[in-house]
Amino acid sequence: MNEIVVLSGKGGTGKTSLVASILAYLDDVVIADCDVDAPDLHLLLKGETRFDESFYGLEKAFLNKDLCTACRMCVENCKFGCAPMDMENMDACEGCGVCDYICPTNAIEMRKVKVGQLIHRKIKKGDFIYGRLIPGEETSGKLVAAVRKKAKDIAERSGKSTIIVDGAPGIACNVISSVTGANHVVIVTEPSFSGLHDLKRVHELIKSFHLSVTVVINKVDLSQRGAEAIKNYCEKNTLPIALEIPFDRAIVDSINKGMLPPLFNQTLYKKIDFESFIDEITSLKI
Ligand code: SF4
Ligand code: SF4
Repeated sequence: MNEIVVLSGKGGTGKTSLVASILAYLDDVVIADCDVDAPDLHLLLKGETRFDESFYGLEKAFLNKDLCTACRMCVENCKFGCAPMDMENMDACEGCGVCDYICPTNAIEMRKVKVGQLIHRKIKKGDFIYGRLIPGEETSGKLVAAVRKKAKDIAERSGKSTIIVDGAPGIACNVISSVTGANHVVIVTEPSFSGLHDLKRVHELIKSFHLSVTVVINKVDLSQRGAEAIKNYCEKNTLPIALEIPFDRAIVDSINKGMLPPLFNQTLYKKIDFESFIDEITSLKI
């Protein structure tokens, strides 16, 4: 199984348009959108929903008022400042279970809380899995892991050999969940000093995973100095640059119109030899 994860140091770098471009060249694959805080591939990848199920995160304490004698022991012993007796400040509940343990009347019940949705769509290009976290919920790493596990299960069951993962942006724990166990990482960056800063942060984060890594410079012609800074960093750190994409309004327009970018501007994709890039990333196997 070849699992390719596309990452960027922050959102808005062109990660999703790169994933959409890759898909235009592949058939019968599994695609996983791990940007569970702000998924957007589903707007592009329409198809038949096979399942749409609730995803539950950590347990939290809930009160059964009928059993509570208002002894306040749960309030006094919660190290996180919650007041289960009145169900106040329960957003801070870490699910440690102390209140449940000490309550003399069993008035506390620990229950898993719904934090998002896990969705599978059958699309033209294969199978598409994505997660959507409820705004404000914090267990994104767990949902990312669930999206990837579901993608892997479906790939194994249906005999598909390639999984393309639209990874979580940034450098938080959900990025680690996006890359753990993958074969290859593509880091998308932009030719600016903030792009370089983000590239360094992602590279540092994933170094310890010993994955094969390549870099794509998006909108490469927008800053020569920025592009040189990125190239110098890649050279010093033996990071191969697999592709340089010039700025083209058509890429953004195609996404807005719900089309895969290479189908919208074939000339550009031929010019940058996108097909060779596809050959390179799909032939890398551990
Ligand atoms: S420990 Fe139990 S009985 Fe006492 S206040 Fe809390 S919920 Fe009520
Ligand atoms: S489960 Fe732990 S954190 Fe949550 S309210 Fe009870 S004591 Fe506090």
